[in-house]
Amino acid sequence: MRNNLHYSDKRQTEYKLMNGEIRMLETDVVVVGSGPGGASVALGLAKQGKKVVILERGRHHKRIGSTFAALFLVERCGFRFSQEGLNVFRALTTGGTSVTFCGTAVLPPSWFNDKYGIDLSEYVGEAREEIGINPLPDRLIGPAASRIMEAARDLGFQWNPIDKFIDADRCELKCPHCMLGCTEGAKWTARDYIQEAVDRGATLINRAAVNEVTIENHQARGVQAMTPRGRVTVNAKATVVSAGGMGTPIILQRSGIFDAGQGFFADPLLVTYGIYKGPGSWKDIPMSAGTLELVPEGIVMTDLADPWATFLLNAYWKGWRYLPKFSKYRRYLGIMTKVRDGLDGRINLDGTFSKPITYADRWKIDKGINLAEKILKRAGTDPESIFTTPVRAAHPGGTARIGEVVNTDLETEVKNLYVCDASVIPEPWGLPPVWTIIALGKRLTRRLETII
Ligand SMILES: Cc1cc2nc3c(=O)[nH]c(=O)nc-3n(C[C@H](O)[C@H](O)[C@H](O)COP(=O)(O)OP(=O)(O)OC[C@H]3O[C@@H](n4cnc5c(N)ncnc54)[C@H](O)[C@@H]3O)c2cc1C
Repeated sequence: MRNNLHYSDKRQTEYKLMNGEIRMLETDVVVVGSGPGGASVALGLAKQGKKVVILERGRHHKRIGSTFAALFLVERCGFRFSQEGLNVFRALTTGGTSVTFCGTAVLPPSWFNDKYGIDLSEYVGEAREEIGINPLPDRLIGPAASRIMEAARDLGFQWNPIDKFIDADRCELKCPHCMLGCTEGAKWTARDYIQEAVDRGATLINRAAVNEVTIENHQARGVQAMTPRGRVTVNAKATVVSAGGMGTPIILQRSGIFDAGQGFFADPLLVTYGIYKGPGSWKDIPMSAGTLELVPEGIVMTDLADPWATFLLNAYWKGWRYLPKFSKYRRYLGIMTKVRDGLDGRINLDGTFSKPITYADRWKIDKGINLAEKILKRAGTDPESIFTTPVRAAHPGGTARIGEVVNTDLETEVKNLYVCDASVIPEPWGLPPVWTIIALGKRLTRRLETII
């Protein structure tokens, strides 16, 4: 069941016992992180009857769906910046960043198979069936998204509804915002997989931050985690690190794998807004429709409006004179431009990170802004009102790349130590990554079930 936030009594009791009394656990597999990567592996193995322990650094926040609640899910309330000042978002909670994602699904690029011999077709198909990934029906394409689509098509773009992780039967155009957490249970999140894994016997321990992997004779033996009640040691036959593009490289570096975190992509994005006489984008499902025809150039464009607090913050970060624009928040049409950046930057052991926006990145960003402005003008927005937000990023990944830090089976140089999340994506990306990450998790499950 979608977003059933309450684990069964039995599992809750077990969780409390673990947290309160048990200091040492034995399991088949320990999964670090409960985002799409960790959840996909955890559920796959739980279905095979394997003993799975999931260690999640964040809490199991039960209140979602409002600006106030989202502040608690998102790391540092959204105020996380690179050394160069790039704002990067991630959520630390059961389900990871998928709890606040837009629910957009894009297939993995063909180079996964052509270049790395990783054929994900079977696994993406399985995920499509299981989750019900489909474009939104017409009734859920909001008035602003429809206006933008019409204008983009008039200008010759192939601007179409995009596949979504959204169950149309449960979705209404009335809730505050997908990015604040879906309260209708319509948007799939990794919590759905975690819930099912727990129902099948997996153990989830929240507020368990893993520092490093226990390694003996070049073999992973499990992990140690710090919880509010002290240290928990988990001994496991296999260890899967799925702490996300920014969490995983730190754990790997602390475990002696120093190539992790050297270079990463963040998929920089911005939103271009213009005031419209009809309904604005704020109430539409974000990223309902867009164009993927510029993907070869490294640009994706979709309709999108920020939740009000993010709009306000970005107006402030742009400059104090942009703050009054907030008074017209509900009248803006918004178009997001997301670009494929290079693998510049670094995640440091202390959690700080560097991510420059290069000239090549800026070229794509500026092209996106230019096209967005044309579409907004065509849609009938006031040309004088058009402005863009500062650049920010929401898809950190590529920090434990296939071919460099892990092999094509997602195993590191340390035996029985695997990585499964956005970190393993081997090349600059620029696409919504969740469908690919889920597929990688399913593929890793297939391998692990034969060896443990
Ligand atoms: C606003 C927004 C919108 C987005 N929209 C889309 C979209 O529409 N489509 C799409 O495909 N993608 C989207 N994304 C990106 C997508 O959500 C992420 O790329 C995806 O969730 C990454 O999955 P992951 O498993 O790699 O890591 P995460 O989802 O980041 O999960 C990692 C988990 O590991 C935990 N963790 C971290 N460190 C530790 C530790 N030391 N010990 C234990 N646990 C730890 C974290 O708390 C977290 O729960 C969006 C992102 C944002 C911010």
